[in-house]
Amino acid sequence: MIKIPFVDLKAQYLSIAGEIDSAIRNVISESSFIKGKYVSDFEKNLAKTLSINHCAGVGNATDGLYISLKALGIGRGDEVITAANSFIATSEAISLTGAKPVFVDCEPRYYTINPELLKLKISKKTKAIIPVHLYGHPADMAPILKTAEEYNIPIVEDVAQAHMALYRIKENDWKLCGTMGRMAVFSFFPSKNLGAYGDAGAVVTNNPELDRFIRMYGNHGRTDKYNHEFEGFNSRLDGIQAAILDVKLKYLELWTEKRKKAAERYYLLLKDIPGISCPSEKANSKHVYHLFVIRTEKRDELKNYLTSCGIATGIHYPDILPNLPPYKQSTHNSEEFPVSSRYAREILSIPIYPEITCEQQEYVAGKIKEFCLV
Ligand SMILES: *Cc1c(COP(=O)(O)O)cnc(C)c1O
Repeated sequence: MIKIPFVDLKAQYLSIAGEIDSAIRNVISESSFIKGKYVSDFEKNLAKTLSINHCAGVGNATDGLYISLKALGIGRGDEVITAANSFIATSEAISLTGAKPVFVDCEPRYYTINPELLKLKISKKTKAIIPVHLYGHPADMAPILKTAEEYNIPIVEDVAQAHMALYRIKENDWKLCGTMGRMAVFSFFPSKNLGAYGDAGAVVTNNPELDRFIRMYGNHGRTDKYNHEFEGFNSRLDGIQAAILDVKLKYLELWTEKRKKAAERYYLLLKDIPGISCPSEKANSKHVYHLFVIRTEKRDELKNYLTSCGIATGIHYPDILPNLPPYKQSTHNSEEFPVSSRYAREILSIPIYPEITCEQQEYVAGKIKEFCLV
């Protein structure tokens, strides 16, 4: 039987195996495991790619979000606004500081946080906003930044799914996601658009004081070996992951183009199938298709059918965050999030990755069509 994986990390490794293997060997032969040259090289190269002043490697993006909120002095009694539909890491980082996550419904069609509804959730306790560039589509940053400025609230972008996504902030001025907020957090979880071979993440900013805090916090609050200015914890990017990421960073633009091409192909293949909605891209946004999320009222049946045809799919995410057990007790009622609640029942992520072939996509689309036409 034909098998189409949801992502194919091995195909990507094989395309650059020689470079990856020698990068790993170099780190081992120099015992540059923690911090060191490979980490600082990657940090510099990522900062350059983004045209941002500072980049600090961290253990993973969940830590990165948490450290960013700590850098803003956020804790008990504070509120942080974020999207109702995201991965739990986003809200977990808020709760970990002692603050309360305040959820906002998403925009119809685009899945990202609704800027109008966001405004209504601002209170005296609001200390930060975390927009999530979900699936690879930028959140609508212009109105979010306007609100943030009006109330003087810092923004921490969650860019875990949107490496190299672009947003037009004003006429002819396109910004990379991760360069518009006070800080931004990238994930390099293996299946992300830039993926390590284990856990890894980074926090970027143009603010040198925040960068200094982030670096110190993730390294026991220390300035040098045994001089600890404050208590932090241990969340460092390791040398092997950094060396791998540095190799892969050179291919990120190419791989992003390939994802976009694959998305174009899906749009053509799926456009006339009744009952299927494809992702939408705003005129002010360039989607990078971390996920290709379609929607149908018969989601569970379609998922089962595709599984029976050897096609792996995913649901991102089956429950909105306010409905999960850790948040259910708080003041939210699920009617507050009609759009994301409905989408949670209808969304289905179909296989997309830079190495996916036309034949694989034709097979996927063919099976979706088969399901919808019977
Ligand atoms: C993956 C992801 C994270 C967490 O990333 P880790 O590096 O696994 O901690 C946070 N937010 C979103 C939206 C994600 O997709």
